[in-house]
Amino acid sequence: MEQTKVQIIKETDALTDALLTISHYLRDNPETAYQEHKACEYLSGFLEQQGFEVQRGAGSVETAFAARPTGYKPSRPCVAILAEYDALPKIGHGCGHNLIAAASMGAAVALARTLGDLANNVVVVGTPAEEGGGGKARLYDAGVFDGVDAAMMFHPGHLNLPGKGMLGRTKFKMEFFGKTSHASGSPDKGINALDALVAAYTHINALRQHLLPDARIHGIITDGGDAPNIIPDYAAGMFYVRAASLAYRDKLFAQVQHCAEGAALATGAEVKITVEPPTIDPFKPNLPLEEAARINLEALGVSIDADDGKRGSSDIGNLSQHIPCIHAYLKIVDPDSPAHSTAFAQATDTDLGQKAMLNAAKMIAMTAYDYLTSAALREKTATAFGNTD
Ligand SMILES: [Zn+2]
Ligand SMILES: [Zn+2]
Repeated sequence: MEQTKVQIIKETDALTDALLTISHYLRDNPETAYQEHKACEYLSGFLEQQGFEVQRGAGSVETAFAARPTGYKPSRPCVAILAEYDALPKIGHGCGHNLIAAASMGAAVALARTLGDLANNVVVVGTPAEEGGGGKARLYDAGVFDGVDAAMMFHPGHLNLPGKGMLGRTKFKMEFFGKTSHASGSPDKGINALDALVAAYTHINALRQHLLPDARIHGIITDGGDAPNIIPDYAAGMFYVRAASLAYRDKLFAQVQHCAEGAALATGAEVKITVEPPTIDPFKPNLPLEEAARINLEALGVSIDADDGKRGSSDIGNLSQHIPCIHAYLKIVDPDSPAHSTAFAQATDTDLGQKAMLNAAKMIAMTAYDYLTSAALREKTATAFGNTD
């Protein structure tokens, strides 16, 4: 192994206690999307102690930050190391973002201690609100990633993978407006909004047979009337459409709109569909970067698993459409344990969870080093980014 990578590993190991303290602090102070004030302050303070200059409120998002080595000169190529730190309502760090933040702090500090002047080419970005808030998309739109050539992070999971696909997602409200009347005495005077919604739901079920294998449509009915003897004049539901490409996500959304319009026509109700931000883009993998991450993970003794094909969604998808990204997974639980659970939160502090976080810190730092020092890797990354969609 190259001497610099040996040094990165040594520096990360030396940070073990500090990184575990970060993980524990976040676990014990869980904050949900855009409320991560304690986490943001704690991580910013840590980075300042370690010689970073921290811009709080990056991109005009209060709980975001961007940190670079003190006295840095903006330099290209630039690698962003991403830290998530938001938790889930009620179950705290059931998605393990405390480990993501700890690993990214470790990677950043190990690089700063190892790279000398090349540390100018590293920025740590604190990205709030992954859970439903689309923080990374907001930060991208606000220019926080201007001048960044590649972005890297890890997520705790069920398998060891340098990357895997994630689905794009459109969330929307479907409302039908009808007319009330007595359901028995004057049904001829009413227009049943609930019937319209049920018809739309049934059309969507029929559409489901024709979906590509990794696409998903799922929804609930949130409003279905007030009393059985009143024809409902209002019914509403919330739905998600998910797909592995931008084009297919948008096509499916259009098909679902047709389901709703057909139901409106059949029942005489009026339909209104409102997309709720953030719309999440599918993850665009960058195979040369993932290959570099895989080589580093294997050098750390991590054996790579076969992809199980299970897919979620994340705002890293939005960023990956603009900048080549690594979103690697490291195993902290058995494949049977669900994410977004208290068991998953507890797993962040098992031997496996702690080890995954340290390996992730090393992998991120080693792969950032590869990217910053290898023109060949940068060229392959850029070519792959331009040629895929
Ligand atoms: Zn999650
Ligand atoms: Zn997560």
